[in-house]
Amino acid sequence: MAARIGLLGRSLQRLNSSARLTSRAPACAALRCQHTQTSHNEENLRPETSQTRSLMDIGTRRVFTADHDIFRESVRRFFQQEVAPYHAEWEKAGQVSRELWEKAGQQGLLGVAIPEEHGGVGGDILSSAVVWEEQMYVNCTGPGFSLHSDIVMPYISRYGSKSQIQKYITQMAAGKCIGAIAMTEPGAGSDLQGVRTNAKKDGSDWILKGSKVFITNGWMTDVVIVVANTNREARTPAHGISLFLVDAGTKGFDKGKKLEKIGLKAQDTAELHFDDVRLPADALLGEENKGFYYLMAELPQERLLIADMAIASCEFMFEETRNYVRQRKAFGKTVAHLQTVQHKLAEMKTQICVGRTFLDSCLQLHTEKRLDSATASMAKYWASDLQNSIANQGVQLHGGWGYMWEYPIAKAYVDSRVQPIYGGTNEIMKELIARDIVKDK
Ligand SMILES: Cc1cc2nc3c(=O)[nH]c(=O)nc-3n(C[C@H](O)[C@H](O)[C@H](O)COP(=O)(O)OP(=O)(O)OC[C@H]3O[C@@H](n4cnc5c(N)ncnc54)[C@H](O)[C@@H]3O)c2cc1C
Repeated sequence: MAARIGLLGRSLQRLNSSARLTSRAPACAALRCQHTQTSHNEENLRPETSQTRSLMDIGTRRVFTADHDIFRESVRRFFQQEVAPYHAEWEKAGQVSRELWEKAGQQGLLGVAIPEEHGGVGGDILSSAVVWEEQMYVNCTGPGFSLHSDIVMPYISRYGSKSQIQKYITQMAAGKCIGAIAMTEPGAGSDLQGVRTNAKKDGSDWILKGSKVFITNGWMTDVVIVVANTNREARTPAHGISLFLVDAGTKGFDKGKKLEKIGLKAQDTAELHFDDVRLPADALLGEENKGFYYLMAELPQERLLIADMAIASCEFMFEETRNYVRQRKAFGKTVAHLQTVQHKLAEMKTQICVGRTFLDSCLQLHTEKRLDSATASMAKYWASDLQNSIANQGVQLHGGWGYMWEYPIAKAYVDSRVQPIYGGTNEIMKELIARDIVKDK
């Protein structure tokens, strides 16, 4: 609760300080008042997604509280004002602006669930989920905030030394230091134990050598967590993997090229090369040869965020499609009058609401630190497959216009495609789920 109040306070503080410049302060004060009045009476009466007018309504879903709603209002405004108007420009550039990262930091949107004493915002994971969802509700996949805040920062906060936490977390929360994580290599993706990037001791230093590919935030990154082999003699490859913090600009660290993708056009994805990069002893993150265990511990949160963003994208695509068919005319009436279209919408909405219920249950489990790997894998595989199915049906219901880039559904369609691939492919998710099913109890 203290963390939540801290988050709310800081969020409002930041909002109000920017409001001094933009005259939004009275609106924020009114909002705070309105929500605190309703929070005690209506907390248990919050509608679920299936009961709302729009699947993106604020003030819904029992996992959230009125405090989250206030935060959501401000996050929504941020994405609508600071991201959506510039996104087409960033799609052409293949990256967002640095200024955006700093603005997000000023608004308290980075490192939301990182403890305040480490330099984060001090909110709960549900507040992070608000940021993930609101980004999908504006259909703008450019900013790699979720990877930075909820994948990279937790490694530093949980496994980093005091000096690493001091060096990175405050800067990352301010958007002045952009984080990335480099696991995948040209020859090793699903099979993480097959990484060839290696680090050898030279006195107290480490010499890092190897190449990584498909790295989100890779082009803009200021610090990257690199997965490397540090013990070729280990009992199994998993026992010989370590994590390193490598700063951009370190001699021998080259960013290669920005990769051209079929979707996520405004997100910078890059190759990274490490050519005998000399690292000091304190570049090691956590303990030597414990990297694989850290990865296994952190991957459920990565999978949860992919899944939650997938369902949020479904909610967005559903509303886009509903709006479109209600105004598009064919055979003298709107497309929405056709019963086959109505049944299609009914199926889509039902599937999304069923998915949302499971996702909210996973979010709840994660707030209680009870989300296990198999359950997170179910969420990631099922939600990202659903996202692709809803994208496909949404494009179909838009007809030819659905194939045009100017229509949001077209962009959502191509952006959906990667979701079953990264964060562990959906085939690997089924492996993890299956292993849990057949293992001896
Ligand atoms: C846009 C984008 C962003 C990314 N961001 C990052 C990032 O920030 N950091 C990072 O480290 N990586 C990142 N990745 C990499 C991503 O995680 C990998 O692409 C993914 O894990 C799959 O690895 P791979 O591409 O080597 O495919 P492979 O492992 O070669 O798999 C090829 C096919 O074989 C299947 N397969 C492999 N093993 C099995 C098995 N045991 N059982 C059944 N099927 C199997 C796979 O499911 C897949 O269908 C990103 C990828 C993309 C496209």
